[in-house]
Amino acid sequence: MSRQLTSPVVIATHNPGKLAEMRELLAPYGIEAQSAGELGLAEPHETGTTFAANARIKAMAAAKATGRAAFADDSGLVVDALSGEPGIHSARWAGPDKDFRGAMNRIQTLLIERGARMPEQRRAHFIAALCLAWSDGHLEEFEGRVDGVIVWPPRGEKGFGYDPLFRPDGFDITFGEMSAEEKHGLPPKGKGLSHRARAFVKLAAACLHRDV
Ligand code: IMP
Repeated sequence: MSRQLTSPVVIATHNPGKLAEMRELLAPYGIEAQSAGELGLAEPHETGTTFAANARIKAMAAAKATGRAAFADDSGLVVDALSGEPGIHSARWAGPDKDFRGAMNRIQTLLIERGARMPEQRRAHFIAALCLAWSDGHLEEFEGRVDGVIVWPPRGEKGFGYDPLFRPDGFDITFGEMSAEEKHGLPPKGKGLSHRARAFVKLAAACLHRDV
């Protein structure tokens, strides 16, 4: 039996976009959360070699610093023909200026250098690792994945990061062309399509119950 998550929770991020999304996910379960940024916690170095390890580092650091349960995520785009890059370096490829246009160009340039022009040579997936950590060292960990292809040129202005480059299997449009509800919407209203939504559905089934 997984440990149940109860308020208050620390969301182990300093990123306002992620904070808003994670708060939104927890709110229907009556979970109140403050972020590591709001609590003035130091940002740990993400020294892990996997998404799960980096999510664990962030959640454990916040749980240890506050004595509360902590929730962290780590995510990125894995391109098969690039040996899994940018992977855990997805944010880093965009640099401090968050230049995702440049990062997408780099992916396309490397794919063409490797002769990857056909969709089957351009397979990729997004991964999201979620970790709940408690101050006594208990962990609950979940992973979500969505498979698709890298398209060129990038399409759509609706998402963020690498969204315009990624067309999920079974769809004609990229993540960048989808509404937030279409990409992230959770069942029963949405399809739970994105990697983060898929991981969160697993987390909710194991560690959250809906009082509403
Ligand atoms: P981190 O999880 O903060 O280390 O960074 C994940 C990075 O992966 C983000 O900066 C984005 O560039 C990329 N990424 C993760 N999820 C998505 C997504 O749903 N769409 C587009 N890019 C994403």
